[in-house]
Amino acid sequence: MSRANQNNEDDSNEPVTLLRTPISLDYDFSAGRSASRFLRAIAEGRLLGQRCPVDGKVYFPSRGACPQHGVTFGPEVVELPDTGTVVTFSIVRVPAESIPLELPYITVNILIDGADTILMHVLDAKLEEVHMGMRVKAVWKPKDEWSTSTGNIIYFQPLDEPDADYDSYKEHI
Ligand SMILES: [Zn+2]
Repeated sequence: MSRANQNNEDDSNEPVTLLRTPISLDYDFSAGRSASRFLRAIAEGRLLGQRCPVDGKVYFPSRGACPQHGVTFGPEVVELPDTGTVVTFSIVRVPAESIPLELPYITVNILIDGADTILMHVLDAKLEEVHMGMRVKAVWKPKDEWSTSTGNIIYFQPLDEPDADYDSYKEHI
């Protein structure tokens, strides 16, 4: 910001370099049938996926239709565990209000066991510890705080297990 701007003088020809405009927007939206089912399940600590009737791939979270084949999923749901494999990861050094971890923290793309799509989440682990193929498990909020929100899972933590075989997740990198 220039000194002219700081002094609130408007007789300067210098361009405005910073404009602060606080904006907020509250809105309600209907989650729809598929997302509602997913959110009601997660309020009970269950993870639900849905299977594509064309190729059998399990989508998690599901949007109710297959983005690849354009078909609606049937009523069948696939119950998934809260464990998975780190496919890719990033080290984040920029704070975010919704992330309850100290900087720097780790974001991960996780292949939940039994799913064929990636879940993005955060990992509570040492930076030098995270790697592709690492086995992880969800850490949930206390049960009495569960709601219809993916925020019921606070983060994932490493599992004391051997790494997943590269072939089991290479399609998702
Ligand atoms: Zn499909």
